[in-house]
Amino acid sequence: MKKNYSNLFKPSKKTISKTISLLKAKKLVAIPTETVYGLAGNAYSDIAVSKIYSLKKRPKKNPIIIHYKSLIDSFKDVEINQNLLKLFKKFCPGPITFVVKRKKNSKISRYAHNNLETLAIRFPANKITKKILKKIEFPLAMPSANISTQISPVSAEDVYEEFKNKIDLILDSGRSNIGLESTVVDVTNNIKILRPGSIGIKEISKVLGKKVYTAKSPNKIKSPGMLKKHYSPGIPMVINHNSLPVDGAYIVLGKKFIKNSNVFSLSISSNLREAAKNLYITMRKIKNLNYKKIYVAKIPYKGIGIAINDRLKRASKK
Ligand code: AMP
Ligand code: MG
Repeated sequence: MKKNYSNLFKPSKKTISKTISLLKAKKLVAIPTETVYGLAGNAYSDIAVSKIYSLKKRPKKNPIIIHYKSLIDSFKDVEINQNLLKLFKKFCPGPITFVVKRKKNSKISRYAHNNLETLAIRFPANKITKKILKKIEFPLAMPSANISTQISPVSAEDVYEEFKNKIDLILDSGRSNIGLESTVVDVTNNIKILRPGSIGIKEISKVLGKKVYTAKSPNKIKSPGMLKKHYSPGIPMVINHNSLPVDGAYIVLGKKFIKNSNVFSLSISSNLREAAKNLYITMRKIKNLNYKKIYVAKIPYKGIGIAINDRLKRASKK
């Protein structure tokens, strides 16, 4: 069936201007970031933020990351924090989100933070999205552009598959570079990784010169978004599976088994960054090929492999 991509646009002066007008009118747009595609709305507007929750069918208690063009801008909404300054200097703009103390007089819509004392903030690196942020006078509330608990989109077509024509505009800037959601780090007290990502615990610890903890079990208050089931392809998934299955697709790393038509390699050269970039696109492809089950080989628990394992574990939750 031919798809009607009438709301997909390549970034140009005209389409970027249209994106900005829609955002100013409190409408939602899907825009690229280096991690995954985001569903963006004016973070100061209750109307826009409410639309994000309803369109994504996102639980109201799951707060949304706020995206800024600059550190200075974010200080309208959050308290200055030394750890944030150090990590910002090293990694931003980039794929890292900071949980910091929210200012009492912040104008961010309460729907976006659900009255928590904290705010999650990020400074995306994608050129197009940076350009948009520079031309608007408000930060963007922007979770991933997918229905809640499902696979995150890493291309404009993925976003279309999620929302069809329910959003006016999807900016198509090709595949997301990283392909996994940002690292979320809580810098309010002890430094804690709430969600692993491409920037790892070791790199963060090195910059701060102190121990960094990993949130073991989902912490309700600190990170309500750490839902156990997430990133799910909507069909059963079995992880750490080491033999060729006969009743489903098999996601592997490297070359073993790839001559079989039901085997999909995340990276022929076993490169974990490439594997991360290919993970969601591969899961989506397998689902669209109508497989009824996905098996996944063991992925090394190192570097970005830690983030891949985190997503696989949640995607396989029943
Ligand atoms: P996502 O569901 O991908 O948008 O993930 C957002 C992540 O940031 C989740 O882990 C949220 O719990 C976390 N987060 C967002 N806003 C806040 C906040 N105000 N305080 C603490 N964590 C937050
Ligand atoms: Mg998401």
